[in-house]
Amino acid sequence: MVLPLPTPDLHSHSTHSDGTLTPEELVARALERGLAVLALTDHDDMSGLAAARAAARGTALTLINGVEISVSWRGHTLHIVGLGIDPDNAELAAGLAATRSGRERRAGKIVAALDAVGIAGSAEGAREFAQNDELISRTHFARFLVKMGAVKDMQSAFKRYLGAGQPCFVPHQWASLGDAVDWIKASGGVAVIAHPGRYPLDSAQMRELIGEFRDRGGAAIEVVTASHKPHQYATFAAHARAFGLAASAGSDFHSPEESYHDLGSLPALPPELVPVGRLLGL
Ligand code: AMP
Ligand code: MN
Ligand code: MN
Ligand code: MN
Repeated sequence: MVLPLPTPDLHSHSTHSDGTLTPEELVARALERGLAVLALTDHDDMSGLAAARAAARGTALTLINGVEISVSWRGHTLHIVGLGIDPDNAELAAGLAATRSGRERRAGKIVAALDAVGIAGSAEGAREFAQNDELISRTHFARFLVKMGAVKDMQSAFKRYLGAGQPCFVPHQWASLGDAVDWIKASGGVAVIAHPGRYPLDSAQMRELIGEFRDRGGAAIEVVTASHKPHQYATFAAHARAFGLAASAGSDFHSPEESYHDLGSLPALPPELVPVGRLLGL
């Protein structure tokens, strides 16, 4: 009997952004859990890719070079994943460096906002969880809030303090949608809209986003992700077909303790879609 291969996992994080496993530990876990294809897609940063590639060399795991770029679009924060990128591409590297550069100042504002609601010590507290000096993220603040007992879990940290509209949310200007797609394409990669079901857009706005993304040269959309309920797989599968985009699947794995989908446990893509792997030569 031939067992079906697990669905390629094309979205994951390491300690180079807001994951808790090093790239080596991530690759080891992917292998243990039987994955054949994994993309490391750290936020706004490619510095973990070399270590992940070295760890995957000579194993059964195919590692895809990836990145997840923070984008501002019409006042919303979106994430655009790049797959099959070249980490040595100067245009992409410069774009990501510029995108990262605002994080430090934003973190200072988050610290001030937490101080203002009576939560002290978050500067050091969040920094303790951040391994990459250039990549301080709300996730690190959320881990601090859980650790010091302000909230019971990560979800609550975003719901009560750090999420959009909450008292310690700091608006931030990220990359533009067009720039993010251009950087990815300049480096030979394929641009993918990450977890579209998470964005608070009505269906007309969602179609505008997908249309603009495709017209800019974007190629795929995540259909299967931990951020989607199963009924949303069908919704975004329909968008993929309607807009002629390929479909991607990714766990968005951050940590064995926090992630909803572990590595190697993704459902298959719905039928009649072009899997983005086809564009990556998989
Ligand atoms: P940042 O890029 O610093 O704004 O941080 C965004 C990150 O926060 C995302 O990549 C997620 O890992 C995490 N995040 C956002 N919303 C939530 C949530 N409701 N629960 C848990 N983690 C979240
Ligand atoms: Mn994250
Ligand atoms: Mn994301
Ligand atoms: Mn992600």
